[in-house]
Amino acid sequence: MSGNRGAFVVVGASLAGLRAVEAARAEGYKGRIVLIGAEPHLPYDRPPLSKDYLLAGAAPDFLSTETELREVLDVDLRLSSTATALNADDRTITVDGAEIPYGKLLIATGATPRRLPQLAPLRGVHELRTLDDAERVRKEISAGCRVAVIGAGFIGAETASSAKHRGADVVLLEAAEAPLVRALGETVGSAASALHERNGVRLVLSARVEGFVGQDAVRGVRLADGEVVPADVVVIGVGVAPATKWLEGSGVELHPGDGGIQCDPMLRTSVPDVYAAGDVVHWPNAIMDSTMRLENWTNAAEMGRHAARNALWPETEVPYSTVPYFWSDWYGQRLQFVGTADADHVEFVSGDPKADRWVALYRQGGRLVGAAALNERRKIMKYRRMIAERLPWEEALTRFPPDSPGRIAGGSTP
Ligand SMILES: Cc1cc2nc3c(=O)[nH]c(=O)nc-3n(C[C@H](O)[C@H](O)[C@H](O)COP(=O)(O)OP(=O)(O)OC[C@H]3O[C@@H](n4cnc5c(N)ncnc54)[C@H](O)[C@@H]3O)c2cc1C
Repeated sequence: MSGNRGAFVVVGASLAGLRAVEAARAEGYKGRIVLIGAEPHLPYDRPPLSKDYLLAGAAPDFLSTETELREVLDVDLRLSSTATALNADDRTITVDGAEIPYGKLLIATGATPRRLPQLAPLRGVHELRTLDDAERVRKEISAGCRVAVIGAGFIGAETASSAKHRGADVVLLEAAEAPLVRALGETVGSAASALHERNGVRLVLSARVEGFVGQDAVRGVRLADGEVVPADVVVIGVGVAPATKWLEGSGVELHPGDGGIQCDPMLRTSVPDVYAAGDVVHWPNAIMDSTMRLENWTNAAEMGRHAARNALWPETEVPYSTVPYFWSDWYGQRLQFVGTADADHVEFVSGDPKADRWVALYRQGGRLVGAAALNERRKIMKYRRMIAERLPWEEALTRFPPDSPGRIAGGSTP
């Protein structure tokens, strides 16, 4: 580690943090590594929590073992340990009241669910971010029970799908006029959301949740128009916020818009020798000509590795950029997206948006910038490469000629 003594300390023992310590050892770092995680569990995969894990029977998907971490990677692993402060002058962090010095620090604290402040907590009301959350939800869902999911984003959609698969009666409540507008744009968001109705889940749009019905345990969700949606279980999936509260007063600059840690292209924060990776980061993504914060698995894994290399070997540092990629599984179908939905035009180039197989492309400034696909696993990665190559729109269209039923213009609003 050039020019610095002291441990490589990673805060956040999940995907980005784990990939960071693995990369440090894989690349030959011989110094001390401390990995600090607030949860009691070894690092585990979150994507299955709203999918296979919610369907009874699946075991948690741990990403490493204690032996691998402590003995093979020689990591000082501190679980159930929460960092509460960063003191940049002393180059220490405070963890459960004790000071831990760092040579290089990597922040990978991810994100935590947003709350709905008007809603008092009641038994039967849950969020879904951690393994413990998922276990609570899984126990309560059963055939014939009534489940209301607040928020028709990806987590909400997957939760609705899993609950339906288990025989529950499911209602999905969405505040916006169309779901997934920010992630997919209106046209494609609506095509994806049509899956809910086709699979027997009622989707209520423009739903204004006012409160819960029930004394002790939840009995329903009250909407502003007076409707009460009966519910034995409520899952709230209204998005997440970067987990940065512990950094207050530390000098680590946050993005004024989304509250992520403001990083430069090398994933350095505003404090010397402090880097960040994963869902918590806002950074300039050169390949997309834009600054952004991502909340997806692939970015967290890639960024964790990249930030560790830049932190430990700054003499060979390289900027981090990526064509965003995420997937989401609903009702046995796979939805995938690459690039950005920030587009001036979108159109379906393959398949039928009313059916279970299609591809839609996104154009911005004459260039292909995004692609969404339902059940077209092989095509989507080719579009990811085309976006990275900055392929002109017209050329992208010719690479995969449209097939039945022909191209369907999505209009100028994505
Ligand atoms: C239910 C669910 C399903 C998902 N499905 C998909 C999917 O299908 N496809 C996809 O691309 N992405 C999916 N994701 C997103 C993906 O899992 C995340 O992008 C990824 O987990 C981010 O990794 P991370 O390491 O940056 O943060 P996180 O996984 O959020 O981990 C951060 C860790 O830091 C810990 N921490 C926070 N603050 C502190 C502190 N002060 N001190 C110590 N530790 C702290 C937290 O407890 C947590 O364990 C899903 C997420 C969820 C929740």
